[in-house]
Amino acid sequence: MGKKHVFYIRKKLLIFLFLLLTKPSFGHDPNQNLPANKIFEKFNLPTVGESKPIGFYAKGCLSGGVQLSDTGPNWQIMRPSRNRNWGHPSVISYIKDLSKSATQIGWKGLYIGDIAAPRGGPMPYGHQSHQTGLDVDIWLTPPKSLTLTKKERDKIKAVSVRKKNLKEVNNNWTLNHAKILKAAASDNRVDRIFINAPAKIWMCENMEGSKKWLQKIRPIWGHHSHFHVRLKCPKASPECVKQKPTVTQISKSPTGCDNTLYWWVTKALEPPDPNKKKTIIKKKKGARDYTMNDLPKMCLNIIHGK
Ligand SMILES: [Zn+2]
Repeated sequence: MGKKHVFYIRKKLLIFLFLLLTKPSFGHDPNQNLPANKIFEKFNLPTVGESKPIGFYAKGCLSGGVQLSDTGPNWQIMRPSRNRNWGHPSVISYIKDLSKSATQIGWKGLYIGDIAAPRGGPMPYGHQSHQTGLDVDIWLTPPKSLTLTKKERDKIKAVSVRKKNLKEVNNNWTLNHAKILKAAASDNRVDRIFINAPAKIWMCENMEGSKKWLQKIRPIWGHHSHFHVRLKCPKASPECVKQKPTVTQISKSPTGCDNTLYWWVTKALEPPDPNKKKTIIKKKKGARDYTMNDLPKMCLNIIHGK
């Protein structure tokens, strides 16, 4: 091996060592093109400064997240180890107000599921939305105690209110559930609420008085042990992207208690027609595939900010 060759290898080695040592130890290296959820999951704290939802519920992030306290007079957060009790102030005050209404209806309060991560953004598991601090899951389990330990709340099983046939509510469902949903949907801050179709059908068929509030309650798969409240974009939040079409635009009736609702417990449950030509559906990019390039540019400030 000639002297020149050895020198060449040494030079290469030095360059390699230099690159290794100067590589940033943490943070967002744009060349790596990491999934955004891998970046957001590293933050245990929000950014400082003004609270602002940025982007869309399922494609965005949260500036200045506010924490819902672990245990309040009428609520406890569930799965505390996930650290997903952060949101825009509008969702925090909404939860406090609704949990107070729950006590007037006859419950001890509410068990609160996921809101958002400290800086919002796509999550490594669980949800497509809940990214801007305006979504909250509320358990359909009536609280027996509001003094559960963190450990107990990481383990406790949520009660389902739906029969296994997917067509009706089961015996866990009560009139008080419906009253809480009514209070939840009648609040002007709410854009829409997602819950399983049998629960909405029960409310359409059994609730008295004006049923206009039912329009905001939207049937969806799952959601039989919690309901999901989505708030409107707050005032003075130009970066927040509204959901379109609106509930009024997609509804066939003022309550949504129509054939589009009953479809969920009839046609939707029929086995697929084997003679029907299979259409190949291209898999849509989901929240877990997003990189920082898919999110609003302002989210870069959120992952780089203090
Ligand atoms: Zn949810």
